[in-house]
Amino acid sequence: MIKAGYEQFVEKIAKQAGLDREQIERRIDAKRAKLSGLISKEGAAQVVAAELGINFDKQKVKVSELLTGMRKVSVTAKILEAYPVRNFKKGDKEGKVATMLIADETASVRTVLWDIKHIKLVEDGVVSKGSVVEIKDASVREGELHLGSISSIDISKENIDAVKTAEILQEKILADIKQNDRARVRATVVQVFEPRFFAVCPECSMRLTQEGNRFICSKHNAVAPTNRAILTAVIDDGTENIRAVFFSDSLCKLISIKEGEIEMLKDANFFLQKKNELLGKEIWLDGRARTNKLFGNPEFVVSDVSEINIEELIAKLEK
Ligand SMILES: [Zn+2]
Repeated sequence: MIKAGYEQFVEKIAKQAGLDREQIERRIDAKRAKLSGLISKEGAAQVVAAELGINFDKQKVKVSELLTGMRKVSVTAKILEAYPVRNFKKGDKEGKVATMLIADETASVRTVLWDIKHIKLVEDGVVSKGSVVEIKDASVREGELHLGSISSIDISKENIDAVKTAEILQEKILADIKQNDRARVRATVVQVFEPRFFAVCPECSMRLTQEGNRFICSKHNAVAPTNRAILTAVIDDGTENIRAVFFSDSLCKLISIKEGEIEMLKDANFFLQKKNELLGKEIWLDGRARTNKLFGNPEFVVSDVSEINIEELIAKLEK
């Protein structure tokens, strides 16, 4: 899905610049070569667009075409999820923020509302899950769509039936990743630490406290615990290294086991075997950067892991 977004973007640049695709792609490759590959394709494409004097202000785009740095863009999309409005306090500033997940037939994107008028529409249920909305003059920051006071959000007359739920995550290099960035990175596993295990409530997934041999949920009292594991690794992409954190789903994907098999990791030999398989392996990781609450260091919380398609990489290199 990232590829689709990128390719549409290249096409858009080519069309607006009156050049053909190959010329734009050559400029992008040259830009990346000049920066020793330290910039993503998308990043290089934006630099090339800017150099050609193209801006995407006031344009109506598809969700898959949204790229960080775009301002005053318009999209029509369906609300897949409207999350509860949150209050925040930053220094002496207090305010509200609403987040939603919207999608059209090309991709989905996290959308953040900062304006009190827009937030009220969510609170009053005027816009809610399932609504098709027309968003105007929004900006794209770190792969999210942001609506401020100059933006608008209105119920659209359009109908969107088939939405694509895959999120567009931008490819990034680790050196460029900042707190709260959601991104896709290609990196090598350079260290794997022993997993930690904990018990959660099967009903509400909250952590349980152990009293003797009973496990207690603060809501559901004594329950039969579900075991979860957390595994930390260090990943490196040549620009930076960071601790990557894997929970149930992403952990199972990382070491190719089924969810019910997570306890197998308690076996030291099994863990060692998996660890040795992982060390030196290069993979794609989708996730979000955050600061570890306990230690204050940055970490990348992995939501998805995928294998690198060697053929795709070779094709790219041959270009
Ligand atoms: Zn519970």
